[in-house]
Amino acid sequence: MIATNLKIKDGVLEFAGFSTPALARKYGTPLYLMDEQRIRDNCRMYQKAMTEFFGEKALTLYASKALCFKRMYEIVSDEGLGIDVVSSGEVHTAAKAGFPMEKAFFHGNNKTDEDIAFAMDRGVGYFVVDNVEELYAIEHIAERKGVTQKCLLRVTPGIDPHTYDAVATGKVDSKFGVPIETGQAEEFYNYAAALPHLEIVGLHCHVGSMVFDEDVYERTAQIMLEFMAKLHDKYGFVTQFLDLGGGYGVRYRESEGVVDIAYRISALADFMKELAAQLNIPFPAVLLEPGRSIVADAGLTMYTVGSVKRIKGYKNYVSVDGGMTDNPRYALYRSQYTVFAPERMEAPPTLHCDVVGRCCESDDIIQPDVWLPELRRGDLLAVCTTGAYNYAMASHYNRIPNAPIVMLSSKGASVAVKRETLDQMIKNDA
Ligand SMILES: *Cc1c(COP(=O)(O)O)cnc(C)c1O
Repeated sequence: MIATNLKIKDGVLEFAGFSTPALARKYGTPLYLMDEQRIRDNCRMYQKAMTEFFGEKALTLYASKALCFKRMYEIVSDEGLGIDVVSSGEVHTAAKAGFPMEKAFFHGNNKTDEDIAFAMDRGVGYFVVDNVEELYAIEHIAERKGVTQKCLLRVTPGIDPHTYDAVATGKVDSKFGVPIETGQAEEFYNYAAALPHLEIVGLHCHVGSMVFDEDVYERTAQIMLEFMAKLHDKYGFVTQFLDLGGGYGVRYRESEGVVDIAYRISALADFMKELAAQLNIPFPAVLLEPGRSIVADAGLTMYTVGSVKRIKGYKNYVSVDGGMTDNPRYALYRSQYTVFAPERMEAPPTLHCDVVGRCCESDDIIQPDVWLPELRRGDLLAVCTTGAYNYAMASHYNRIPNAPIVMLSSKGASVAVKRETLDQMIKNDA
């Protein structure tokens, strides 16, 4: 099995110790299931490795955008992580969940004036400033409110993480951050340092997502530490926080590798400590911002099969009662997924098909080229590793309501996000 929270019992797929068909019958489909213990274990793995290898000041921030609803923030808060947020919506959700906002870092390449003011009013601890215009916008709003806002500066190290273009963010020509290579990041620092209502406490970068290559974070850290040394030697600036972003890849299919994240963190820490000593700069509090690797393998989606279409001599289509509205990742990135027929895990896989959604879009595919047992209308399908960037990217295309999230734990199953109703979808129609 691709993850240790998946098991087969009497031919039935179990997830987090629960029978998946029983949950589908109880809560209906499409349905997101989340394994609470797995989320907590992933948080703990990061916390432990970060403090063990980088010291007590190190902090893991959960990247909210991967999966955002109130219960998530309660779990993350419980586990002692910080968060990164990118919109007033995420700030509001976290604040309503009682998250300690002084541990929130506000990201995004285009924070509106309303976002900035809203986040300051909610007591967001740190702003990660994306560009010079934004720097002045934050300064003006902080001045108006009579506060001093702690900020990190987002810079681009010019690293190609060898991932998909759509999720590569650290290259010089990225829409995020200010490039080091062109000298603009140094100017950015100088403008920032002169502003009276901002306290510049660190630097941030994020090179991309689904990173598997061994040396990506070392190459990134090298550029960042050298830039820190330059600011230190030229201007006496001490970088208190160095945030290296998120991005560790996860396994979506049996054939893919597993990143040993704790080991990677230990290797990165060794590399950085040695280089910081060589450069003769104080070692910063290191932050990482994982999203996907906290929640991806804690999620599983259940669907009901509708039509099974066999186009003679061509291909077979199995349509499910969800699709790109609950999981747009194949349409966006050609993402890989593992699909099971959860009621017949031991039946021979004789049906070669594309598993497709119900939306009016040919690319509304959950996964092409899948081998499954023979299927009929009313059978169930399970799609694994859907915890990250599924619910978070859900849409209302074709006016399909959002699916609910059921949280599974040793205390039982409980609804964390209710199924959206048809009336809720029209409530803002005037
Ligand atoms: C997307 C993103 C993350 C999280 O990336 P994952 O691949 O989900 O770990 C962290 N930081 C920033 C700035 C991001 O844009």
